[in-house]
This record gives sequence, structure tokens and C-alpha cells, in this order.
Amino acid sequence: MQAHDQMYIDGAWRPAVGRDTIAVVNPADEQVIAHVPAGTAEDVDAAVRAARAAFPAWAATPPAERAARLTALADALAARKDVLAETITAELGSPLPLSQMVHAGVPVLVAASYAELAGRHAFEERIGNSTVLLEPVGVVGAITPWNYPLHQIVAKVAPALAAGCTVVLKPAEDTPLTAQLFAEATEAAGLPPGVFNLVTGLGAVAGQALAAHEDVDLVSFTGSTAVGRQIGATAGAAVKRVALELGGKSANVILPGADLAKAVNVGIANVMTNSGQTCSAWTRMLVDAERYDEAVELAANAVTKYVAGERVGPLVNAKQQARVRGYIEKGVEEGARLISGGPDAPLETGFYVSPTVFADVTPDMTIAQEEIFGPVVSILRYEDVDDALRIANGTVYGLAGAVWAADDEEAVAFARRMDTGQVDINGGRFNPLAPFGGYKQSGVGRELGPHGLAEYLQTKSLQF
Ligand code: NAP
Ligand code: MG
Repeated sequence: MQAHDQMYIDGAWRPAVGRDTIAVVNPADEQVIAHVPAGTAEDVDAAVRAARAAFPAWAATPPAERAARLTALADALAARKDVLAETITAELGSPLPLSQMVHAGVPVLVAASYAELAGRHAFEERIGNSTVLLEPVGVVGAITPWNYPLHQIVAKVAPALAAGCTVVLKPAEDTPLTAQLFAEATEAAGLPPGVFNLVTGLGAVAGQALAAHEDVDLVSFTGSTAVGRQIGATAGAAVKRVALELGGKSANVILPGADLAKAVNVGIANVMTNSGQTCSAWTRMLVDAERYDEAVELAANAVTKYVAGERVGPLVNAKQQARVRGYIEKGVEEGARLISGGPDAPLETGFYVSPTVFADVTPDMTIAQEEIFGPVVSILRYEDVDDALRIANGTVYGLAGAVWAADDEEAVAFARRMDTGQVDINGGRFNPLAPFGGYKQSGVGRELGPHGLAEYLQTKSLQF
């Protein structure tokens, strides 16, 4: 795999201050495919200084010109679609068709959506005798995870640039090659030097330095609740803006009148995609007592289509594989009924986990409460609609979910009572403009579309 042994700072690839490197591993065959520099606080500082220096001119650039650069960025990503997909497959392990369609495909749409929004957003409004200016927040520190490596970068960088902010990105240590390709795309798009900067490195070193840097105005983080809590506390102490997109334990609620087969099949597919490494995955399937056995049988059947090493890739690394297998063991210990899969590794090489379905899961079990981040579905039984709502809302998370009912009206009535940031109604389609983010401990702030743009703006009111 092609890799830069440098950081992208102030419009050029530059040597890192230190000599440490990170080995990038292909999780499907466990081979080292590249090395990238492990940045330190000094590299982060150089990148933040470049972003600060570039900020006044970028903030003053007319929105139409920022829009033109974002269109060029979307085009540059589209032109690199094949190499992006191959790289994501190599460092994340996702099957190539998924990398092509979702991992490489969706970010082009998102970048293009921000080109469009930058061009037509009202960065000024009138309220009575006041003119309210919507101004860029400043220098953004973006810290991203590995599970949708390009999407999560674009979902932060594109709105930040549209708003007039400049950015320093610290991508996940497991997927830095995708981030380097993204940096190349920003260069090809003709962004002025310093507007986008990349520092690869470890979370505890480079990530920590970026989150704590006093000249960063906003930290946007996606990842685990444990790290998010720490970043929120650091930002709070410094009185700076923070956006946190954390975990989830979303419910797939199948109401009595729903098309059961469709709801179960789509629900299983939703979790198995990306080996279950999706923060918004509907990992809890809720079915009424009357149709419970039928749903379990449908699920057992549906999961046979998902084979590790074929449609289901490995997990990203050995640690995540061990973690997920540990949760499956815990489910068995706590008395859930394994109807498919289990804790044993399905292949000798690669960080694979068997696609797993548990029945007879009760709401208090660990596997019904904690984010597993692997190809594991729990099927829970409810007695009536209020019971279903109690179970659906009965975790610390609130990121996403699904409701299936006899008609949209009934599904919407249920969705209105859910404590969650996004709900798919009777199999609704993905919308790259819909705000995405969490209620409760799933996070703070929203990404995508106009709501995602608003995160990077601050308001100033002028009275006349
Ligand atoms: P993580 O540690 O929270 O990683 C997310 C990002 O934060 C990475 O870039 C990481 O760098 C960085 N980071 C780590 N420690 C940091 C610190 N002290 N200060 C600043 N940045 C820091 O997540 P993970 O360890 O990769 O995954 C663990 C669990 O998190 C998963 O099992 C899953 O439950 C959850 N998760 C959720 C999402 C989501 O989309 N909400 C995504 C990924 C993971 P490194 O890459 O060097 O660690
Ligand atoms: Mg980590």
C-alpha cells in the first residue's frame, strides 16, 4: 500500500518531529501493509499554528468560492474512488463492494451537499432591528474513528470548510491511509495552504494534544463514550465548543401490524453491514410475544446469508475481535439463547467473528445494554406497545432506531416517544442531509446537512 511517511501541514507533506511510526495492519490477513508517522504534541502544534494562520483569509473568502473548493473536493474524492475503496478494504477489512458503494461513495455525496449548502446558506439574518451574522467558529480539531474512516472525516471537514473554519485532523490509528488519501484530495481541490492539516498518531498522544490545544476553538470527536467523556471535560474546562458523536444501542422496534419478514431481514442486514461496526446499528430487535418464535426463526434463516470471510469482513483489529467475542461469551453466561454464531473464531487467520444472533435476551442483560460493535443481534420480547417503548428507551444511549408498523402514522406515533436522534420509519432510506447525532449519552451536537453546518458557526448580532 502507498503511504506517506510525512504529515500534511500548511499545504505540504512535511517530516514529523519524532521518529515513531504506526504499523497499519490488514485485519483480513493480519499482515502489516504500511507505516505512517506517529505524531506528537509538537506536530499537532505546528498543524494548529498553520490552521490559525490560514483562518482569517479562509473565513473572509466569499461562500461561493468556498463552495467551489468543496465541489472540487467532491470531484477529487470521486476521481479517487477506486483507490479509496481498495485502501479502506485493506486497512478496515470491509468487503470491496461495501467499500465502493458506502465507504467511498457516500463521502462524495456529503462533500457535494456541503458545496451546495455553502453556496446558498444565509450567513446573515434579520431579527427585528438586528442583523445577525453567522461567523465561523475558528480552528477545528477533528478526531475520527476507523469504522467509517472516510465518511467520518468528510462529515466533519466538509461542513467546517463550508462554514469558513480551518481544520486539523487526527484520524484513527487503524485507518490512517484513508486520511492521507483525503489530504491528497484537499490538495487537488486547491484549498489554500493551512486550511486543512493532517496529523497521524495515537489517540493518547496526538489526539489528546489536539483536544487540549489552547488555540483550537472547537473539538469534534467521534468514537467511544470513555474518550468522549474525557474530551468533553477538557473542552468544558477550557470553555470551548465540543461536538461528541458517541456510541449507540439502537432498537429495531417491530410493532404487531408490521411486515415481520421484511423487518427482520432488513434488521439483520443493518447489523451485519460493516461487521456490526456501525454506531447507529439496530442491535436490539424488539418483537411482540405473539410473533416472537416466528421472528426468531426468520432471523436464524436471514443470518445464514452472512458468512464471515464472504459478505462479512473481519473486525478492525485483534482487540475489537477479543472484545466482541467476550460479549458473546457474556451473553451465553447470562442465559441468552444462541441461535446462530457464537464466540469461536470462524477463520484461523484474520480478526473475524461469527455473525451471531441471540434470542431470549432480557433488557437487563449486558448484551442488551452495552455497545458491542460487532456482528451480534439480540432479539427481545415485549408484551405490549408501552412495554416495547420502555425497552427501546431503556439504555443510556439514544443514537438511532427503526420502527415498523402497519402504516407510517402508527410508526411515527411510536417514534415520537423514542429518546433517540434518528429513526427509520418502515424501512426509510438513508438521507445524507438528515441531522445525525445522539440523545442522552450518545452525544452532543449533530452532523450532516444544514444542522451539521450550524455546529461550525457562531452568531454575532448587530443592532441598528
Ligand atoms: P476511541 O479510542 O474512542 O477512538 C476514536 C478516536 O479517538 C481515535 O482517533 C482515537 O485514536 C482517538 N483517541 C483515543 N484516545 C484519545 C484521547 N485520550 N484523546 C483524544 N483522542 C483519543 O475508540 P476505539 O478504541 O477505536 O473503539 C472502542 C469502542 O468505541 C468500540 O468498541 C465502540 O464501542 C466505540 N466506537 C464508536 C464509534 C462511533 O462511531 N460512535 C466509532 C468507533 C468506536 P486511536 O485510533 O489512536 O485510538
Ligand atoms: Mg482507541
